[in-house]
This record gives sequence, C-alpha cells and structure tokens, in this order.
Amino acid sequence: MKKHNFYAGPSILSEYTIQNTADAILNFANTGLSILEVSHRGKEFQAVIDEATALVKEILNIPAGFEVLWLGGGASLQFCMIPYNLLAKKAAYIDTGTWASNAIKEARLFGEVEVLASSKDSNYTFIPKDYEVPADVDYFHYTSNNTIYGTEIRKDPKVPCRIVADMSSDIFSRPIDFSGYDAIYAGAQKNLAPAGVTLVIVREEALGRVDRAIPTMLDYRTHIKKGSMFNTPPVLPIFSALQTLRYYKQLGGIEELERRDLEKAALLYNAIDNSKMFKGTVTDPADRSIMNVCFVMKPEYAALESAFVEFCAARGIVGIKGHRSVGGFRASLYNALPLSSVQVLVEAMHDFETTH
Ligand SMILES: *Cc1c(COP(=O)(O)O)cnc(C)c1O
Repeated sequence: MKKHNFYAGPSILSEYTIQNTADAILNFANTGLSILEVSHRGKEFQAVIDEATALVKEILNIPAGFEVLWLGGGASLQFCMIPYNLLAKKAAYIDTGTWASNAIKEARLFGEVEVLASSKDSNYTFIPKDYEVPADVDYFHYTSNNTIYGTEIRKDPKVPCRIVADMSSDIFSRPIDFSGYDAIYAGAQKNLAPAGVTLVIVREEALGRVDRAIPTMLDYRTHIKKGSMFNTPPVLPIFSALQTLRYYKQLGGIEELERRDLEKAALLYNAIDNSKMFKGTVTDPADRSIMNVCFVMKPEYAALESAFVEFCAARGIVGIKGHRSVGGFRASLYNALPLSSVQVLVEAMHDFETTH
C-alpha cells in the first residue's frame, strides 16, 4: 500500500532524492565504489558540495557577502554556535516554542539575553506580537516555524537590528529577503535531506566582532576558510541535499515551492475549519504554519483520538500523531509531500466523521 508520510522530522523526501541516494550508495558517480567508502576530498565529492552550495544560493537568491556552510551537530548545535560567534554583549529573542526556548538557554551562556515576548503560558498556541525589538542588541533571534506547535512567522521581521533565524522546518517554503539577516540556520531533516547535516547561511562581515576565544570547530570562520571541509563533513546527507535541490530547481524554484505549500495547507485547514469533529490548536489563523498543521478532536469526540489514528493507518497515512507536549494530531506538509497525500488525509477525516 502506498504510504502517505506526515512525519515531522526526519520526514518525507522526494522519490528523486531517495532513488539517487540509493544509487550512489551502490555506485557513486561511476567510480564503481559506494559514496559511503570514498574520500570526501576526491573530485567527485567536491563537485557534489560545490553544486549543492551553488544551488542553495541560486534557489534562495542569496546576495553576495553570505557564505553557505554544511555542518554537523544539528540545529541544536547552532543554538550555541550563533551566540558564540555573534553575541558580543546583548541579544534579543522571542520564545515561541521548545526550540526557541532551547536557543535562549544556550545564548544565556554567552551574554545578556532579553526575552522580548513568550507564549509559553498558553502552551505556545500563538505567536506573540506585542513587543518592541531594541536597536542596541547584537541580533534579534526568532524561530520562523515552530514545528511542535504549528505556528509560523512567514514574513522577514522589520527590526532596527540584525536578524538571526532558525528556519529548520520551513526553509525552502518561501522567498527570503536576506538584507536584514546575519545568519539563518536549518537542520536538514525537515525539508532537505536525511538527518546529519545543518545548513548555515552566514554574513561574513558579521564575524570577528566578539572578543572571546572560539574553539576551532565552533568558529564559522574555520568552516568558511575550509569550504565546510575542515573535518570530514556529513557526506551522505550533503549528497541527498544536492538531489533535493536539483529537484526543487527543476520544479520551478522557490515561488513554485511556496505555491504548492500554500495550496496543501489551505486544503487541510479548510477541512479542519469545516469539520464538526476536529479543530485547530493555533488560536490566531494568521499564525498557522503551512508546514506543520496541528489539530485535535473537539472535547465531545476526544475519546476517538486513537481510533482515528488507526483509521488513518489502515489507509496508509502515517506520522499524524501530535507531539507528546501538544497531543492530538500533527500533519507535516513538507515540500516533498504531494497534494494527493493531503487529499487522502482530508478524505479520511471526512469518512471518519460520517461513520462516527
Ligand atoms: C527539528 C528542529 C530543531 C532541532 O534540530 P536538530 O537537528 O535535531 O538539532 C531545531 N529547531 C527547529 C525549528 C526544529 O524544527
């Protein structure tokens, strides 16, 4: 049976990405060897990382002055690398979820951190809007998509200081205006590649402004100087990322990706809004994520939650159980998920509602 993969991360990848990765595990670039067993310094892999870097710049339309890095350690390592490299005195953060609060905790090790707003008391069901970003901070940090809670900030903030963003779960779902940013980072396992590599886009000019000593591996300048090859990079996830990027380009680039993502999200939110059984968890529709759609059973149907998950499983729908801190359901609609899978889910919701 065809599976409809709604997992939140690691998550669905395009068939193109999976097939080409499988092929390269058997025979990489006609070397007669697996990509798992050749030097990362060979010309074949150099071509992979060079093309992947160029495609990130092309698809996201990244202006001159930024470097694209492929690093290990996950987005979670960036929670400390960002302040290590960029926080001289003070930074401003907004607390919009678990990942944002993890980032805040790490930043506090490096300087003064002003938390401008938080929706923690409401279990992060909305994006706080009532705050002012001070001009005297080294940067303003936000999480563009709150994967666990299904909220998203889809506009580049207009603030009187530099911006840093964790875009782990919504990068490649909209165009970005880089002019205000010093850094953007994203763990690959949501919208790009298998787990193991983190994409970091950093403004070179923003580096070298802190006085502290930075360990070699945690200093962005090390990886810029060595082209992400200071040490052995995560070779296989970078290869897969290249396949995804080729696929994105071939689809029509970032505008087409955004159009598809908006279409899928509208279909599912519309079904939730018109249902007598289900309701969304995000309180302000303007905050709804187009990547992770969180919903629950209305109280009078709450006992049917696990029955619905099983009902879906029988139709090949997997990965819709909500994060343990939210409950209910979460359908992740990453770029590789086809519209037809959302149609299957919407139909399952409708059929379950009419039979229960
Ligand atoms: C998944 C996720 C992370 C954590 O990524 P790791 O690569 O597991 O460290 C951080 N931020 C956001 C927004 C995420 O969705």
